[in-house]
Amino acid sequence: MCLGLKLTKLLLRAWIIVYSLMEKQRDFSEWYIQSIDNAGMVDKRYPIKGMNVWTPYGLRIARLMNSYMREEMSRTHHEEVLFPVLVPEDQFLKEADHIKGFEENVYWVTHGGLKPLDVRLLLRPTSETAMYSLFSLWVRSHTDLPLKVYQIVSVFRYETRQTRTFLRVRELSFFFESHTCHVDQEDAERQIEEDLKIWKNLAHKFALPYLLNKRPDWDKFPGAHYSVVPDTYVAAAGRALQMASMHHYRDNFSKVYDITFEDSEGQRRNVHQTTYGMSERILGAIVAIHGDDLGIVLPPDVAPIQVVIIPILAKGQKARVTKEARAFYRELAEAVRSELDSRNMRPGPKFYEWERKGVPLRVEIGVEEIEGGHITLCRRDTGRRRRVKREVAVERIVSALRRIQADMEARAHREMKENIHTIGAYDETPSKGIIRAGWCGRESCGLRMEERLDRGLLGTPFFGEDFKGHCLECGEETTMVAYAARSF
Ligand SMILES: [Zn+2]
Repeated sequence: MCLGLKLTKLLLRAWIIVYSLMEKQRDFSEWYIQSIDNAGMVDKRYPIKGMNVWTPYGLRIARLMNSYMREEMSRTHHEEVLFPVLVPEDQFLKEADHIKGFEENVYWVTHGGLKPLDVRLLLRPTSETAMYSLFSLWVRSHTDLPLKVYQIVSVFRYETRQTRTFLRVRELSFFFESHTCHVDQEDAERQIEEDLKIWKNLAHKFALPYLLNKRPDWDKFPGAHYSVVPDTYVAAAGRALQMASMHHYRDNFSKVYDITFEDSEGQRRNVHQTTYGMSERILGAIVAIHGDDLGIVLPPDVAPIQVVIIPILAKGQKARVTKEARAFYRELAEAVRSELDSRNMRPGPKFYEWERKGVPLRVEIGVEEIEGGHITLCRRDTGRRRRVKREVAVERIVSALRRIQADMEARAHREMKENIHTIGAYDETPSKGIIRAGWCGRESCGLRMEERLDRGLLGTPFFGEDFKGHCLECGEETTMVAYAARSF
């Protein structure tokens, strides 16, 4: 690399450090907004708060993530459906707990043209009430079960709290919801196990660590028998972040919506149901956890552009370098998602732009590289640069991407683990982090703990954990732990 280029890079970095508002640790909220903006993932200027416009780059990331969800669905024999966005009020009002959980957050459609509607319609905040009247027609016999369907659609929630891109919005553009019906509670239980396996595969793709918590009863999904939630932790914000949810409904909804089947003995019985929900919140988690002071960092599996090739054009050598960069691009594009940035600009600003887009790996090709028979690689996550021989470059890039993915996942796991603090008494409570403490399981103790810890209970580990200690509140001996944290 020539001296001028080095200087440009140095100056840019110095500028970032001195003037930028991007420092993740210092002001997470501002950093989060700026990073998404600088990466060009959404345009926040749409005139409805909490409804963002997906720009091409953001959309490519979201579609890639959705493609993994679809793959998992197809592997586990779920069928994709598409239900209308409007739900009639009388359908919505059937399940009492469910309404209570959502009534303050729904958008209503009250008019058709100038005429008030006889039955008001609401924009789905989730699709239980839209789907289940149809399920009662679809499910007739035990041979129709299990019924496993899903959709990825927009849902609408009138948020009254401060909105935040991907994390708290009024239109979730990529709400994934799977809904299943089963012959009995045990089969529905098996579905939850399958859901957890699906989540494990996805979390691996997204390089995200998580704790699998069974939410306390007072915080489960409205209408559910229980809810299981993978929570992650954003250290820079000191907050936990719920990334998905799986709910076992038992027959709570099927009784209300009359979803019954004839069993092998000719008896009519209610189905047991589950749901599994995810959304672009996961993308928010990726931004928040993996990003650094330069902006977002995408794990290779969710990067629509995994490698960007930048020709370093020296005077009098432009044609030669461009030709070599093109040839390398054609070869590389066969193996990984790549892009050649052949714009007529200096390399420094190009580096900066692609870094802010979170592209995992940069390839530099200049005269020095061509003459030395190598290329230069630079990792976005560590900033580390190295040369590799031109003839093995493609395979080295493929393995480098795998390593970046694994390193990012390991780093995020380590960071979450370091932020979990087991305490035996209130005065051991640290100012930040996830608290792990004994809990007797009583609601009264749990609510007191929330108050005194100044954190919400995330719940108890779904698969249990070896623990012997005392309830933090009442001191009773217990083998159960609870996790508590401030949340997004
Ligand atoms: Zn207790």
